[in-house]
Amino acid sequence: MRSIDKIYINGAFVAPHGEETADLFNPATEMKIGQVRLGDATDADAAVAAAKQAFPAFSRTTKAERIAFLKRLHAAVSARADELARVMVEEYGAPRYFVGFSVANAASVFLDMVETLEAYDFTRTIGRAEVEMRPHGVVVAITPWNSNYGFICTKLAMAIAAGCTIVLKPSEMSAIQTQVLTECLHAAGLPAGVFNIVNGRGDVVGATLSSHPDVAKISFTGSTGVGRSILLAAAQTMKRVTLELGGKGPNVILEDADLDAAIPTALMSGFMNSGQACIAGTRILAPESRLPEILERLKTAVAAIKAGDPNEPGVQIGPMVSQKQYERVQGYIRLGLEEGADLLAGGEGRPAGLERGWFVQPTIFSGVTNQMRIAREEIFGPVLCVIPYRDEAEAVAIANDTSYGLQAYVLSSDADRARAFADQLDSGRVVINGAPHEPLAPFGGFKQSGIGREYGVFGLEAYLEPRAVLA
Ligand code: NAD
Repeated sequence: MRSIDKIYINGAFVAPHGEETADLFNPATEMKIGQVRLGDATDADAAVAAAKQAFPAFSRTTKAERIAFLKRLHAAVSARADELARVMVEEYGAPRYFVGFSVANAASVFLDMVETLEAYDFTRTIGRAEVEMRPHGVVVAITPWNSNYGFICTKLAMAIAAGCTIVLKPSEMSAIQTQVLTECLHAAGLPAGVFNIVNGRGDVVGATLSSHPDVAKISFTGSTGVGRSILLAAAQTMKRVTLELGGKGPNVILEDADLDAAIPTALMSGFMNSGQACIAGTRILAPESRLPEILERLKTAVAAIKAGDPNEPGVQIGPMVSQKQYERVQGYIRLGLEEGADLLAGGEGRPAGLERGWFVQPTIFSGVTNQMRIAREEIFGPVLCVIPYRDEAEAVAIANDTSYGLQAYVLSSDADRARAFADQLDSGRVVINGAPHEPLAPFGGFKQSGIGREYGVFGLEAYLEPRAVLA
């Protein structure tokens, strides 16, 4: 049983002023594995005060000094990669293969920012003006549970690179992971107050931070609904805002696709992180001319996907993070049936042989129209829809007929055709034939998937403000 009873303010682990607690669970067993004591508004204020005090000195550090800090953060997170992976499986239920990749990526974002910083010039001359890129000030980062390390490290890396100080409020459901990660970050030995981490409820600590007058910028990753409330709160003092929100990614199989490659690739992006991914390609768009073949192959491929104990080798789908999330996803499976979609694979209830744990069967609906709620709303579980299309013009129209626009997928045997199709999609990223993640390329959403971009130079500049001096 883990007891997380400290938050991290001004370079030290301290007891929070808040007295509320929340239980922590292993989602694969439904067993309680710990408890976290939550911070409150007083703790949020204290963290902002520490970051505000640290800002003047930190904002004057040189690029070389900040590069050294980023390298130390990378080393400190890498040093405990195995333990970070173990607690991520235990508290979150992600399968081992995914956890290994997540931890490695979380550590490497610090080096990605080193590369970005090395190539970045903070000053430039435009006509008679000297333009200097200045750090915003105190930044607040609010993050969700579905990739706790990745989001914390990404936002911290960009803030440090820019010379901002930061207060992080991770999801209260990931407190054990946050604790181990915070110990790693503390070991990197950054100046006190440069980063502060406060566990707490969104409507208490999150809300206090998003309306705090001493906060210059908010970087939020989470649901579109909460993103909207943060934007409204931020408007009171004109905070700069980056929002990374939900998605309902189109996963488009073009008519010429090689299905031996396309089907596993489509399922990989659809079911990534057990479906708990904003970038999941959850709407499979299939050409009518090849629909029977595609449905048959999807059915066979899903039958071979192993769902279960995330520690077991070969498992691709673990449990949902919480009972609430489990019930929400089961509700969407029932909704799909009520809306008249056909069940191609999976369905309500747990996978066979699993009596405990918040497991959902990998589920695919066919006969889906893009107007159904299961095709329009983010389910955040292993539930995919197959939507047929007649020609590419209709496929583009369906792909873009969504309030979201985060990440889309195109599958084709012809690189030029795939590229021409990709160019028509309203999406912050388009991945062709399962291309690997590019950590320096911008990431973020069109439409209601967000505002702004993260990673690389686009991410760095989101923490900077130009000041032009004319002489
Ligand atoms: P959520 O929006 O419920 O919570 C995210 C964070 O916001 C948590 O730390 C929560 O405590 C906090 N919060 C809640 N209410 C708040 C308020 N009123 N003020 C300030 N903070 C508040 O999201 P979640 O359930 O933790 O995560 C799943 C969602 O995140 C999905 O919608 C998913 O698409 C989205 N997401 C987006 C990205 C992206 O990069 N675009 C990545 C991962 C997840």
